[in-house]
Amino acid sequence: MTASLQGQMMDMPLTVSALLAHAARFYGTVEIVSRRIEGDWHRYTYRECERRAKRLAQALIALGVEPGERVATFAWNGYRHLETYYGTAGFGAVCHTINPRLFPEQIAFIINHAQDRYVLFDITFAPLVDRLAPQCPQVRGWIALTDDAHRPDMRTPVSSYETLLAPHDGAFDWPRIDERSASYLCYTSGTTGHPKGALYTHRSTVLHAYGAALPNALGLSARDVVMPVVPMFHVNAWGIPHAGPLAGAKLVLPGKDLDGRSLYELMEAERVTFSAGVPTVWLGLLAYMKEAGARFSSLERMVIGGSACPPAMLRAFEDDYGVEVIHAWGMTEMSPLGSLVKLTGEERRRPPAEQRKLREKQGRAGFGVEMKIVGDGGRELPWDGVTFGDLHVRGPCVIDRYYRTDTSPLIDGWFPTGDVATLDADGCLHITDRSKDVIKSGGEWISSIDLENIAVAHPAVAEAACIALAHPRWNERPLLVVVKRPDAQVTREELLAFYADKVVKWWIPDDVVFVDELPHTATGKLQKLTLREQWRDHVPPSARGDADCPLTDVSTDLNADHAGCVPPSDRATRSPP
Ligand code: AMP
Repeated sequence: MTASLQGQMMDMPLTVSALLAHAARFYGTVEIVSRRIEGDWHRYTYRECERRAKRLAQALIALGVEPGERVATFAWNGYRHLETYYGTAGFGAVCHTINPRLFPEQIAFIINHAQDRYVLFDITFAPLVDRLAPQCPQVRGWIALTDDAHRPDMRTPVSSYETLLAPHDGAFDWPRIDERSASYLCYTSGTTGHPKGALYTHRSTVLHAYGAALPNALGLSARDVVMPVVPMFHVNAWGIPHAGPLAGAKLVLPGKDLDGRSLYELMEAERVTFSAGVPTVWLGLLAYMKEAGARFSSLERMVIGGSACPPAMLRAFEDDYGVEVIHAWGMTEMSPLGSLVKLTGEERRRPPAEQRKLREKQGRAGFGVEMKIVGDGGRELPWDGVTFGDLHVRGPCVIDRYYRTDTSPLIDGWFPTGDVATLDADGCLHITDRSKDVIKSGGEWISSIDLENIAVAHPAVAEAACIALAHPRWNERPLLVVVKRPDAQVTREELLAFYADKVVKWWIPDDVVFVDELPHTATGKLQKLTLREQWRDHVPPSARGDADCPLTDVSTDLNADHAGCVPPSDRATRSPP
């Protein structure tokens, strides 16, 4: 670093306790409403939330938890989980949120790897705890997030959260903590190998909260009623438990019932203005809205991310229900927000079709996130909106290394995201694939995400995945795996014909197969590795030489074929880097 004149401002560490303290002090009467696992609703204020978080801190300290030790949670979005976010990290312990949807073996691995001292769990997870406890001998105690009256009958000795808090009064000052010390620990739910831990710092969590609340990001304020549907057990619910208190926004925490009807009723009852979640959850909400003929009376904006937002979903929320969709991209290793779609004034004046194209992309990086796309040998690629490359990022909220590993994942100081993307001249990101999911046909790349987005725009398709099939001539060709909507009818031929005016001919899948359901990861993403294994022996018609294959009239020189094609969008035909 260059030597320079030292500034003369206070050296106050950025600590997460300050976020809740700020909300309690200045938005003390703003509410936090939770749908409880016990079945009823609970409401209280930021002031009460901070008091109880302090009581938890006192209780954990009394149990002997030291700063730096990990305290884990298995919990839905609710007020006790929120208190745990602050009642652990607030005094220097590390809040380790665990995704209960992972395989029990993976969870046991994670608890042991993180060396969690205590585990706080919602009562829905009692059977899981009974299964895990014998495999996790270093856990000193399991605490059910409830009172004694609701404490489940279990093999494992457990105490109840309310009993734990009872002797403590909340007369506690949050300690001053080094801002570079650890705040939260989140494991990635990788599809291969063991999960890996991203260990955030107080500094990265607070900076992320600042960034998330900004108008060009989530745009939160004290007039908002914010309902994170994205679970607090997955990458800190995209920072909302921190950005919400920072902005003084009312919080609505939906608990375990995430079906369309439950979400809609909660949104209406609490006058939710802003929500955030993955596309799968919103599919359920849209289906309910349509069936019930319901309308939103307060919802203004929603963030859709975690997987590509299908354009059909974007259109449905914006055109049919008047809700602004903010498409967002990010990852656990980035705290997680990386980029969001917020159009500039000039972009909002462009023709609607052009605006829509921009909204379908993943948007611009938030402040503090630097991006580049690279090709072979780390060669940096142009920002022209068409050249695909491996997306690398860096910034103060991006991981430096995984927890308890010796090797750095960085390449020249940048984190390789594993995503393949284009960047246009204005810095708009378009994710085309995970690098391991990309389909390489005759040496050219086909975006599986684009093909899936088209499929789900068909009225008979509920969900679709596109995977690479081995092919003797083209190396790989796309196979479309489809779940039909209930009672809908559609044939393979109709679906293939649906692509005709939307992509170049050689992008059209070679085959379509119908299934009852698609495999998902613990965070709701399509599990393409499993799908590829399931369909490994499927022989596409083009490999059999059937006449209706989209490639049968394509010359052996795919590049010559590309030259005559009109791409469906500005990114459809491009050589790989
Ligand atoms: P996770 O760490 O579980 O949150 O997963 C991060 C990965 O999800 C990213 O690297 C992307 O592959 C994918 N992802 C997240 N948001 C989007 C999005 N808006 N569009 C496409 N892929 C996304």
